[in-house]
Amino acid sequence: MTYRFTLQLISRWLWVFLAWLPSPCVGEDTQNDHAESVSAFGYYDERVATLAHKLAVANADFCTEREYRAGLTVHHLSQYDPPLRENLQRELALGVEPQVLALAATGPAEMAGLRVGDAILSIDGQDLNFFSIDHPMSVEPINTLQSLIDAAFEDGFARLIVETEGTERAVEIEAELGCRSKFYVLPSSKLNARADGMNVVVTSSLILFVQNDDELAAALAHELAHNVLRHRSRIAQASRLLENDRRAFSRFLRSTESDADLLSLELLQRAGYDPAAAISLWKRLGPKKESFFGSTSHPGWRERVYQMEQALEQFSSNGR
Ligand SMILES: [Zn+2]
Repeated sequence: MTYRFTLQLISRWLWVFLAWLPSPCVGEDTQNDHAESVSAFGYYDERVATLAHKLAVANADFCTEREYRAGLTVHHLSQYDPPLRENLQRELALGVEPQVLALAATGPAEMAGLRVGDAILSIDGQDLNFFSIDHPMSVEPINTLQSLIDAAFEDGFARLIVETEGTERAVEIEAELGCRSKFYVLPSSKLNARADGMNVVVTSSLILFVQNDDELAAALAHELAHNVLRHRSRIAQASRLLENDRRAFSRFLRSTESDADLLSLELLQRAGYDPAAAISLWKRLGPKKESFFGSTSHPGWRERVYQMEQALEQFSSNGR
């Protein structure tokens, strides 16, 4: 991949951001402000897909809302700005069918033989070649596509017909049960991560900022914890109930952050990541005013780090 350009994506992310309420981890952010190559972007998705799959599956029994997860991230030309499409068609052979953008390493889709770059022709007998690429970029096709994939995996299995360089093959995937949350990468120069109840979004800058997979897992686990604890809907409810008591509302917001911090340690531990990475990450993120961690709606980072250190000591004295 030799060219670089600003990814002007709308796709899966925009509606996530438009639909934002006063919610966990809100920081200043804008889209389309980060130049990335598509190859780098695919790498980010790959890394997030891998960590997200492990976190979601290892913690399935913590979650009341679950889904079968294949560890598969797809993309389609319609989600990109039309001027970019020619490049994508040439460089990635992205056509009318959706394509595999990323796979969770050793996840069900990869183990079944799916490969990044495979065009997906059909899923459980449903052809996927009806998505138009002649329209302005839109959220509709990728959302429809994701719904079709989710529906196909509702019973835990799906059979895909895929094509690479003119050769078709069938891939049968047995998905794994995990927490229900979709994980996305947003190209952005801001250090940020968010959760809205159904989705977790992490920026490309935060992925570059972390020192290792454990730290990235810590950021994802914190956001997943917000979803597991249904913070989005609880915050919406509290904002109505506490309309005339902004102090109480702020206190409530801060408590959701502390709760997400503490649950994230458990989620990390159960998925085999080092929970102490949450502390090292927040210690470096905390002093950065721009970070979602430094928002005024959040408790001070030193207090949060202290709470997590206390909780980790408790972990080790309980022999966990
Ligand atoms: Zn948060």
